[in-house]
Amino acid sequence: MRWWATGNLVISAGLALTNLEGVPPLLCALVGYSLIALGIALVLRGVRVHCGDTLATGQIVLITLIAMLVSGYFTLIEPSVRGRIAFSGFYFGVLNWMCGYAAGRYSSERGVPIAVTGFGLLGTALVVRGMHLLMQEGPVDLSSSTVLGITMLTVPLGQVCTSFGLILMVMWRYAERLRQLSSIDALTGALNRAGLEDQGGRLALRLQRARRDLAVLMIDVDHFKQINDSFGHAAGDEVLRCLTRLLRQELRPMDVLARIGGEEFVLVLDGVDPAAALRLAERLRARIADEAVQCEGASVAYTVSIGVVASAAAGYELPALMAAGDRAMYEAKRRGRNQVCSA
Ligand code: GH3
Ligand code: MG
Ligand code: MG
Repeated sequence: MRWWATGNLVISAGLALTNLEGVPPLLCALVGYSLIALGIALVLRGVRVHCGDTLATGQIVLITLIAMLVSGYFTLIEPSVRGRIAFSGFYFGVLNWMCGYAAGRYSSERGVPIAVTGFGLLGTALVVRGMHLLMQEGPVDLSSSTVLGITMLTVPLGQVCTSFGLILMVMWRYAERLRQLSSIDALTGALNRAGLEDQGGRLALRLQRARRDLAVLMIDVDHFKQINDSFGHAAGDEVLRCLTRLLRQELRPMDVLARIGGEEFVLVLDGVDPAAALRLAERLRARIADEAVQCEGASVAYTVSIGVVASAAAGYELPALMAAGDRAMYEAKRRGRNQVCSA
């Protein structure tokens, strides 16, 4: 946004210089046109930065220099108001199209189509203005109906579109970041409880409507407090991250993984019948018991207790499924841990 704001300020200063009466032609041509080009280049850099790219300073200087040299040529060497204004139309028009292209590459964001429309309108208006001037007979007449019509109608509309579009793009980006922060567990990157209620709830509803099987696994690390006490809190954190990675490897894209407490995880599995859920839980339990976590030179072996529950037994309400799964998980603890129990 800093680049966009600075760019627009610079464009305004350049426009003022090229339009003010009584400004010496050299100042108007060299400084005015250079400032407009510099301003659009800064806006272009802003759009690219927003999209994870950039526009090198050398390229910004080059864009500015081209405007300075060509308008200087049409002022000092081959004086031609028509040449200067037509060039500015084509040049600034193409630069606006480049801004639109840069924004359009990220078409998944809200606001992008509006910004692209705005840059497209501005670019097209400027190019048409340049072409009209080149085809005009006799002395340059900027007050002709075509030029005035294009400028008065299209340019303000284009500017409103680009401003709204760019603001929407930034707001959408922030909204997306907030949504992620509010639904994702920072330590492991798995969903947190709010994310589970949202995504797990939606998955359960979809499966219920499609009359497909759903299974829930409640996973709790055994004696996790002892791991913290023996190896330190950092090792405990590393165990949680490794466990998350391991669980992810076993999931399919539609499944939901969440961390809902210190060392408690929930898996909501899409289209998995009770027998398959038990097999998966047993495979997970065995893999976890086999794979020690390496942390700061220590090898931390750990196990989990898993409670398994299926929609066939407990329905499709996530809270009821989790309560039943929790009871099964505590039964596994009671039976000595490192076990799988079915609700
Ligand atoms: P059980 O086998 O009965 O489940 O015993 P447990 O020790 O795993 O269970 P308990 O609930 O007694 O202890 C959980 C511990 O998890 C206590 C808490 O300090 C630790 N813990 C909670 N959140 C975190 C975390 O984010 N990182 C680390 N390293 N430890 C955590
Ligand atoms: Mg535990
Ligand atoms: Mg626990």
